[in-house]
Amino acid sequence: MANLLRPATWGLFSWRGYCSRGTQGRLSAGFVEALKAIVGSPHVSTAAVVREQHGHDESMHMCQPPDAVVWPQNVEQVSQLAALCYGQGVPIIPFGTGSGLEGGVCAVQGGVCVNLIRMDRILELNPEDFSVVVEPGVTRKALNTHLRDCGLWFPVDPGADASLCGMAATGASGTNSVRYGTMRDNVLNLEVVLPGGRQLHTAGRGRRFWKSAAGYNLTGLFVGSEGTLGLITAATLRLHPVPEATVAATCAFPTVQAAVDSTVHILQAAVPVARIEFLDEVMMDACNRHSKLNCYVAPTLFLEFHGSEQALAEQVQRTEEVIRHNGGSHFSWAKEAEERSRLWAARHNAWYASLALWPGCKGYSTDVCVPISRLSEILVQTKEDLEAWRLTGSASLPRAPGAGRGGAGAAALSFGPPGTVVGHVGDGNFHCILLVDPEDPEELLRAQAFAEQLGRSGRSGRRGGAAGRGARGEGAPAERPFRLPPRRALALHGTCTGEHGIGLGKRQLLLEEVGVVGMETMRQLKATLDPRGLMNPGKVL
Ligand SMILES: Cc1cc2nc3c(=O)[nH]c(=O)nc-3n(C[C@H](O)[C@H](O)[C@H](O)COP(=O)(O)OP(=O)(O)OC[C@H]3O[C@@H](n4cnc5c(N)ncnc54)[C@H](O)[C@@H]3O)c2cc1C
Repeated sequence: MANLLRPATWGLFSWRGYCSRGTQGRLSAGFVEALKAIVGSPHVSTAAVVREQHGHDESMHMCQPPDAVVWPQNVEQVSQLAALCYGQGVPIIPFGTGSGLEGGVCAVQGGVCVNLIRMDRILELNPEDFSVVVEPGVTRKALNTHLRDCGLWFPVDPGADASLCGMAATGASGTNSVRYGTMRDNVLNLEVVLPGGRQLHTAGRGRRFWKSAAGYNLTGLFVGSEGTLGLITAATLRLHPVPEATVAATCAFPTVQAAVDSTVHILQAAVPVARIEFLDEVMMDACNRHSKLNCYVAPTLFLEFHGSEQALAEQVQRTEEVIRHNGGSHFSWAKEAEERSRLWAARHNAWYASLALWPGCKGYSTDVCVPISRLSEILVQTKEDLEAWRLTGSASLPRAPGAGRGGAGAAALSFGPPGTVVGHVGDGNFHCILLVDPEDPEELLRAQAFAEQLGRSGRSGRRGGAAGRGARGEGAPAERPFRLPPRRALALHGTCTGEHGIGLGKRQLLLEEVGVVGMETMRQLKATLDPRGLMNPGKVL
């Protein structure tokens, strides 16, 4: 019934709202009617503008629209949709809020985008068991608003207000993960519609235990599967008690090394820090401008502590000692809820703060994670690379009124669209947000080369950067002797993605990370669950 004709035209560097070249196939009128019969006419669209909205996420991956978008309202409808599409050989692409950063929702072979956002009920709250069951359209902020009066909260907090099932699908994490874990640690059970339409409860129907030794860990298999194994239609999540008291702080450091050393020393001192986030001086400056903060512009840590008043006093004292020992200064403590919210809102808006530094540019985010012992090494080298690749800022940037005082940031903003560094450093995870001019193919290549380390022939501990200084407008980035973040992370026993996932762009890096046997095992699992390869094709593997 479905006649899908399309070349594989996906790739990087097209933007929200822009639809790539390439012929999208057409679903037959009969197939579209069959979709409408399942979910109702108002919940199906084949309009170009709607398809384009669903053909991309927040990343720089090229828009690849699906052939139709459907909005099911319950799990039975999702099952019927899956059975229909699978039976007719039509790709199925699950869609949460589209905030992903690895092109996970791009319909590289067309097909039907299943937007789950209208399934937005909180199905079951079990405060005494610290658990909640949510449908896929519930976002993290909506859940925490719902939980406001019951003394519990859900701590995993990516910068975007993503859907909780999308977060499960990508294995997301956030600023609280150093204390409370990532989605991998906080999903207890998943309801999944498998490609043919059958419903699976990964830990058994209705179960919400904290530990189990019963068979294979199916929940773990689906967390981070990026829509390639099935559609998550409900998630049972672990909740945490709201801490009695909270205090947040910022402090500045003379160097990146000093900030990272402090992070490691705080963890080594067994301070149960709830959040510890790094911002380099360029990012700090960007956040000052965007969120009207007035922090000193330097490599900075944002910290937060949770506990009883007494425990907090001790945590704060030990942390201050460590930080002062490492040359930290400009402490600013935030105790009031409003002040803390302002600080963390600024941190969560770091992506948009970066984009605002250079209007018209697009953001390209790297996302590596290394063992904590290698963190300072990779961060310091990465900062050097940003400089060598002239990705540290422009003198022409207008300084916003009230922008940060003094510090290294002002000096760093000297040329080119700036690259910023921000990280969940307590987990060994950080991002470079590279700003690139979408109209400048050279710059696009340079950013891609930086992110993927095309210049892989060279040594890892490069110094000097003469090659890089000539990079803007001279020669191919591929010739440069760098070992840039993802492959450098792999060389340091880390991973090419701490939280954004593999999506479209990191499949080669996944192979390098897990090896041939690892990839074959993943492919076999995929083939068992999705023998026709129709669940979100082109992603992960
Ligand atoms: C400003 C900003 C800050 C961010 N900060 C972070 C961060 O700190 N940490 C972090 O981890 N991420 C971060 N992200 C990335 C993004 O928010 C996460 O990847 C998030 O988990 C995606 O959720 P979503 O609902 O938007 O999913 P989408 O983008 O809609 O989809 C992402 C992938 O999951 C699949 N999927 C979605 N829903 C389902 C479902 N119900 N069943 C099966 N598959 C599904 C899709 O097919 C796709 O492959 C950030 C993004 C932005 C824009």
